[in-house]
Amino acid sequence: MAIKTGIVRDDRFLEHNTGHIHPEHPTRLKSVYKMLDSEFSDDLIRIETQLAPLEYLELVHTPIYIEKVLKTANHDFTSLAPDTPASAKTWLAASLAVGGCISGLEALVDKKCEVCFSLIRPPGHHALADRAAGFCVFNNLGITARYAALQHNFKRILIIDWDIHHGNGLQDTFYDSSSVFYFSTHDTRLYPYNGDWAETGEGDGRGYTVNVPIARNLTDSDFFHLYRILLADITAHYRPELILVAAGFDAHRLDPIGRSSLTEYAFSGLMHLILDLKKASGDPPVLMALEGGYHPGALADCVHAVLKVLTTKQNQSVHIPEISQRVETMVKKARKIHTPYQVWTH
Ligand SMILES: [Zn+2]
Repeated sequence: MAIKTGIVRDDRFLEHNTGHIHPEHPTRLKSVYKMLDSEFSDDLIRIETQLAPLEYLELVHTPIYIEKVLKTANHDFTSLAPDTPASAKTWLAASLAVGGCISGLEALVDKKCEVCFSLIRPPGHHALADRAAGFCVFNNLGITARYAALQHNFKRILIIDWDIHHGNGLQDTFYDSSSVFYFSTHDTRLYPYNGDWAETGEGDGRGYTVNVPIARNLTDSDFFHLYRILLADITAHYRPELILVAAGFDAHRLDPIGRSSLTEYAFSGLMHLILDLKKASGDPPVLMALEGGYHPGALADCVHAVLKVLTTKQNQSVHIPEISQRVETMVKKARKIHTPYQVWTH
């Protein structure tokens, strides 16, 4: 059965101009939108984005920081962080990126769709309460999680972050909370150089952050099994009412900054897996938001692979190869580190 799939797209995201040599350039999203036009003309439900009101931005960010971003409007160039430039329309795009996630959530709550993919920029998972970081301006999914809890009373929200960079902004936002469970795989040798196994949460959030550093030569099959085994335990025990996916595709082998070895099939595998987990967890809505992915062609291929899983009319079966020793060791390590908290290991 095809899944009722919403997408958020808007050409105003392309107006966040980072300069010709910046990896997070508008061509990324242009390539995705071009693919959508040629491959998915009738299969997707278009969800309109909206400007995020200031009070939503304040669910994660400080008023001083929001003011700083607002002041960049209509200036050709402002440096928000050494790696995060703002152009005259960055405020607009960043506010629409948050609004695009919130619109997606509202569409899910209203049952207009079962899964929504917000194809937005700038990305969000590195953005901190008081500063831009790692090409991210506002923490799109962090704000959406807080909004979902506040407006719709979601009590257990699972964030799955498969971008190759650790989502330090997301982790920071919910580090002491049990109402958001953060699961991330990433390469700790890349920016922001954290996300170690031992970062597991604090206070009420102890055990609700799971970081799994991965090797650069991890295969599609390893990636799939790692997620399959760990997320099965996490969803069974945590019983998420809402699933958010920080969907970056910079672990693709062609990505110029990700330095990893995955193909687009790794992400179609994960999409199958998330649909299975959704079914097994009482059918919580799934909101995906684009994060990284810096090879425009590979990025479009990955988004295509994910959307194909959602829109296909047949039940596809995934060929599941053997579990490698390497994955078994990683799973064992994650369980050992998290056993004292008894959140998902009991
Ligand atoms: Zn990334």
